[in-house]
Amino acid sequence: MARAASILRAGGLVAFPTETVYGLGANALDTDAVRKIFTAKERPGWDPLIVHVSDLAMARTLARALPPVFETLAARFWPGPLTMVVEKAACVPEEVTARRPTVALRMPRHPVAQALLAAAQLPIAAPSANRFGRPSPTCAEHVVADLGDRVDLILDAGPTELGVESTVLDLTQSPPVILRPGGVTREELGGLRVVGGVADEVAAKGLAGPGMTLKHYAPRAAVEIFEDEAALQARATELRGRCVGVLVPTAKNLFAELRRLDAEGVDVILCVLPAAEGIGLAVRDRLQRAAGGRRA
Ligand code: AMP
Ligand code: MG
Repeated sequence: MARAASILRAGGLVAFPTETVYGLGANALDTDAVRKIFTAKERPGWDPLIVHVSDLAMARTLARALPPVFETLAARFWPGPLTMVVEKAACVPEEVTARRPTVALRMPRHPVAQALLAAAQLPIAAPSANRFGRPSPTCAEHVVADLGDRVDLILDAGPTELGVESTVLDLTQSPPVILRPGGVTREELGGLRVVGGVADEVAAKGLAGPGMTLKHYAPRAAVEIFEDEAALQARATELRGRCVGVLVPTAKNLFAELRRLDAEGVDVILCVLPAAEGIGLAVRDRLQRAAGGRRA
C-alpha cells in the first residue's frame, strides 16, 4: 500500500479494486498523471473521469459549492456506488472533467480503495481499468489483459463485489438526473425525485452523460439482446451452425462472462435482458450498449 501511494504521489498509475469494478487511478490534481490514464486506456479526451475521495472533507475541496441534497445522499450512500456530479472547484484540472464546469465525485467502500486513499492522501481520478470500449474489469486478470505494462502497479483483491459501475447522478439539474444506472438503484434513491436511468428514457430525453456512447462494454463477438426466452430460442435456431454463446446475466457475472465467451471464440452472444428494475436497470443498460444499440 505504501508503494502504491508513492507511485500515485510521483505521478504514476495504480489499478485498484472498488466494490463496483477495478479502477485505473492517478493523482486527480496532477495534470500529467491524469493524461496518462487517457493514454493507457486509449480513452478519448471528451470522456470525463470520476474522482474518488476518502471523505466528505476531501469532496468539499473539489467542489465549488455542494448542494444540500449532496450531504443528504452522501450520509445515506457513502461510502458506496453512488457518484455525484457537482460544480467543480478551480483546483480540479480540465483534463479530469473533459473541460466541463462539473466534477463527478465518489467515496468507494472497498477496503483496499479506502486504504489507498488514506495512504496517498490525494483525490484519485479513476475510470474503469479497461481499454476504452471494452467490458469493464471485475478482476485483476482483466486489468492485465487490457492494460498490461501500461500500469505501474495493480492491487489484486480478487473479484469485485457488485460487478457493475456506480450510479452517476447529476445534482446540477433539478430534479437530479441519473446519467448512468449503477450500483445504487433508482428504487433506493426512492425518496428523491429523480429522472433518467432507463435507457429509452435517457435516449428520448437526451439525458445521457458524456461517455454514454451507444457502443460500449463490447466484447469482440456480436451481442444480440432479447426481451424474452422464446425470441432468443428462435434466433438460436436461425444461427444453427455458427458458434453461439448464451449469456445468463447477473450484475456480478456480466463483464466476466462477456470476456470469457470471447476467449472461447464464439461468433455471437445471445442474451435475454433482465427486468428493468433494481440492479437490472444497470445490467440492461450495459447489455444494450454492448449490443451497440442493436435490438432484436
Ligand atoms: P468510467 O469510470 O470509465 O465508468 O467513466 C466515468 C463516467 O462518469 C463517464 O463516462 C461519464 O459518463 C461520467 N462522468 C464523469 N464526470 C462527469 C461529469 N462531470 N458530468 C457528467 N458525467 C460525468
Ligand atoms: Mg468505464
